[in-house]
Amino acid sequence: MLITIDTLRADALGYAGNARARTPNLDRMAAEGAVFLQAHAHNVMTLPSHANILTGRYPFEHGVRDNDGFRLDSKTETLATLLHAAGYATGAAIGAFPLDARFGLDRGFDLYDERYPQGASEYDFRVAERPAPEVTAVARRWWAENAGRRRFLWVHLYDCHSPHVPPPDLATSFASDPYLGEVAGVDEALGPLFEDLRASAPAPLLVVTSDHGEALGDHGEETHGLFAYEATLHVPLIVWRPGVIRPGRDSSLRRHVDILPTLLEAARVPVPADLPGRSLLSPPDPRAASYFEALSASLTRGWAPLRGMLRSAEKFIDLPIPELYDLRSDPAERSNRFAEGKETAGELKRLLPPLSAAAAAPGTEETAGRLRSLGYLSGGGTLRKSYGVEDDPKRLVGLDRDLQEIVRLYQGGRIRDAIALARSAMKKRPTMPVLYEFLSYLEDQSGEPTRAIATLEESRRRGYLDERLTTRLGLLYSQTGKPQEGLALLEPLRGSSNPDALNALGIARATAGQPGAAIEAFQRALRLDPKNAVAWQNIGLTHVHEKHPEQALEAFEKAFAINDRLPRAWNGRGAALEELGRHAEAIESWKKALALDPQQFEALLNLGSVALERGQPDLGREALTRFIATAPPALFAEDIQRARRLLHTRG
Ligand SMILES: [Zn+2]
Repeated sequence: MLITIDTLRADALGYAGNARARTPNLDRMAAEGAVFLQAHAHNVMTLPSHANILTGRYPFEHGVRDNDGFRLDSKTETLATLLHAAGYATGAAIGAFPLDARFGLDRGFDLYDERYPQGASEYDFRVAERPAPEVTAVARRWWAENAGRRRFLWVHLYDCHSPHVPPPDLATSFASDPYLGEVAGVDEALGPLFEDLRASAPAPLLVVTSDHGEALGDHGEETHGLFAYEATLHVPLIVWRPGVIRPGRDSSLRRHVDILPTLLEAARVPVPADLPGRSLLSPPDPRAASYFEALSASLTRGWAPLRGMLRSAEKFIDLPIPELYDLRSDPAERSNRFAEGKETAGELKRLLPPLSAAAAAPGTEETAGRLRSLGYLSGGGTLRKSYGVEDDPKRLVGLDRDLQEIVRLYQGGRIRDAIALARSAMKKRPTMPVLYEFLSYLEDQSGEPTRAIATLEESRRRGYLDERLTTRLGLLYSQTGKPQEGLALLEPLRGSSNPDALNALGIARATAGQPGAAIEAFQRALRLDPKNAVAWQNIGLTHVHEKHPEQALEAFEKAFAINDRLPRAWNGRGAALEELGRHAEAIESWKKALALDPQQFEALLNLGSVALERGQPDLGREALTRFIATAPPALFAEDIQRARRLLHTRG
């Protein structure tokens, strides 16, 4: 069993000496198992880091360098493919969208359970996630169902990710440190799963780690992904198997790439010969080095790429302003010893793989396309022009805080302030692709789709428009009554291997009055990704629009068989049922849409007007009043008027 606790700092645990942490379950596993106190990740973002853990390879080998725009190719072997081929039952319980099956880590798993709720918007700053107790419940069920078989289970818990909001019962006791409150919540959720493990015979092997830590203000960074200081690169690592693995503590440099060989060895499955890691159960290699990188800011903001090398306690960070630290004497990385340690730094730098080869590593076409569109590769393998000290993320950490603040303002409902801050950040540094993406999203959300279009057009002029943003721009044109412009952008993507692009193309075609061609695009998305519930949802919505309620209901059933937490599909299902005269069921369907997403304004309006008509005046009045109070007037002006009239005449 492999448990990855997202965003968990190495020092946020009781067994690691943190007196404020409340982690009795993990502490007990640590006391009974082997604890690796100097374990390190190679990436500080969720998807690439999990790709490292599951493939046992460095990011420049498997090609996944960031969350967005990357997908593990279909050839690289993973823990799941290797164990599955060896006859293991394989299951995964996933906590959040960054590890969605679409990113390719699902290969080799019999069960890849990723049923977190999906929001109304295809793109949002909120990450779709589900709480640890739900994930561990899925994990426990699968573990029990596969008892007696050789089994491999991966459990991913996302709760410690920002925003830091502990479960209600822990909020008071951790009011001054909500991050540790979230960690305590995860530990609590793990208790029953650990009990199952103790009761399993023969004793299973358990590996617990995190994909990266959380900066919490260290070096001016708030969350993770920008730098690769110890706050985010240093991870917890426990290996437990009572009666087989002797309890103890190991302070040598250990790495995420060492996890796969450890699990394969325990399963008596041959370890591929060309892997960089070695089993954690073999004695440490004193010459071992660990590669790391943080490329997100480089890929999405055009800042200097951050890469580095750890060897024993020496840590070199390769940036325009290079850094060298001795982690033994300076674990907080306060004093940069690069000036005195040029020789050591040079040695470590020579261990780095060339970045060009790195960026050209096998990935999907999509990946290569994204890198190219951001100026990483031109044609085949040359890097963007050099980076200066002004591109060093250390100099730009203020802008990083601006970006975090924009998200916080938006999430706190202060969208005007978020837009103002995005515009001022853009003045400071107009060469950050991600700012155009943020700003256009905020403008769209604030009911100004025309401004959002202008922002994305500027981004296109600058060469930042990748397939994802092209998809959004196309959708915006469709939604603002310019389906031809939408089609002009999206029709060229009809051969895309990205289901999101095909879903957008289908929506553009439907808006342009081509329902048949629209359904064709959704079906193509389904051929690429048979578990794409949103494509079934879109087929259903197209049928609703075409007044084919029976076919719509069939499509929604197919969507719900994959994921029953799609608020727009529940809204559409309500409309189809209403069309068939099944009013009571329609009302229940809209209620379900609203329970999943209170911002389903159409569902609110439908529910209100039908309930009023069908003898449920209290329910109807409540829904319409809420609709009038909360629906954005920019988008629902006429409907709000209609709701007022309804309340007046019938309410
Ligand atoms: Zn993560």
